Amino acid sequence: RLERIVGDMLSVAEIEAGQLKLRRGDVRLDAVFADLQADFREQAEQKEIKLIFDLPPKFPVIGGDRDKIMLTLHNLVGNAIKYTPAGGEVTVRMHEEGSNLIVDVADNGIGIKAEEAELIFDKFYRAKDKRISGITGSGLGLALAREVARLHGGDITVRSQVDKGSTFTLQLPAAPPPLRAAA
Ligand code: ATP
Ligand code: MG
Repeated sequence: RLERIVGDMLSVAEIEAGQLKLRRGDVRLDAVFADLQADFREQAEQKEIKLIFDLPPKFPVIGGDRDKIMLTLHNLVGNAIKYTPAGGEVTVRMHEEGSNLIVDVADNGIGIKAEEAELIFDKFYRAKDKRISGITGSGLGLALAREVARLHGGDITVRSQVDKGSTFTLQLPAAPPPLRAAA
């Protein structure tokens, strides 16, 4: 866990220096979702969370940084499991919309207050919900995830209701924009 926090902090430092770089290549989404499913199966089972993948029969290949996209999806699915009480449900859906790839990660967990929905994307911000303080986290995951999405020319947004659940939407263009010019 410490290694991951240090890694996240280094990446945040890179964002701030304008130095977070993408290593572009072809990203095979069938393999990405297969890995994601394998990576979280046990954790979901242990917490008695039903983890559902609702995926299309055919997957596109998109241009981007596989490791960083994986990191982003890991945080979204990890959060959904962390912030949903036992017995809950987490659903990962993927579809294409024009030239965009849309991934929804929906949970029926504790939710987020409207006034905190933007703040949770700030680094180190954790919701002021009593149920959050007992769950470990450094508040870096979403800051990094959103930066990765934006570097690809996409974004992450959230819709949520307290005690009903949250849906995080990752949008990625199939073909990312050219590399950001060096500052
Ligand atoms: P880490 O750095 O380990 O990811 P974290 O999970 O606390 O720590 P973020 O992933 O950036 O950090 O999330 C920030 C905050 O947003 C969380 O602390 C939590 O308050 C809120 N949050 C994120 N995802 C959810 C979710 N699915 N349901 C409810 N609250 C959420
Ligand atoms: Mg997190």
